[in-house]
Amino acid sequence: MTGRTHDMAAITALGVVALTQPLRPMTLATVLVAVFANLMGGIAPDIDEPTAPLWRNLPIGGVVGRIVDRLLGGHRFITHSLVGVALLGWLVWWLLSVLQPIMPRVDIHVVWWAFIIGVGSHLVMDTFTKEGVPWLLPIPFKFGLPPLRFLRITTGKAVENLVVLPGLLGFAGWFCYLHYDRVLLLLRHYIV
Ligand SMILES: [Zn+2]
Repeated sequence: MTGRTHDMAAITALGVVALTQPLRPMTLATVLVAVFANLMGGIAPDIDEPTAPLWRNLPIGGVVGRIVDRLLGGHRFITHSLVGVALLGWLVWWLLSVLQPIMPRVDIHVVWWAFIIGVGSHLVMDTFTKEGVPWLLPIPFKFGLPPLRFLRITTGKAVENLVVLPGLLGFAGWFCYLHYDRVLLLLRHYIV
């Protein structure tokens, strides 16, 4: 899947959780940092890809990307597994703990969960693509839905751009409509 689809999936997953789960009171700063962390989580597993947006946008990103790619075992390997989710989660928790003193009004538990929701949505979305996802590494088997490979999606092709992305947008809109009262409540709380 492309970065755009992953970001849409991440924010949709975060929205579903925010609209259906009991939320603790949080500052606007927490909400903003959490949304950013969620979008980062949505594309984080693709750091194992030398052409990932993160590497493309850095001056020596191409070289660093290729080194990281080797270290992580190539595309769709460790960062696309539950072990990888645990490692990324640990790394981001450590980073947030270091950053906490300079952002005292930010609830890093909320930010961490938003990041993990983003990562989880990435693996779920990639499961629908032809390559599949090695969820249970070190068991070297790539899972995919539907199980028949030819029925799955090819990254960046028409089905993703014309069906999956608009489908996610439609779903997000429909879900907000279903939970309209809660949407208003959140908007009133944080914006108005
Ligand atoms: Zn991926």
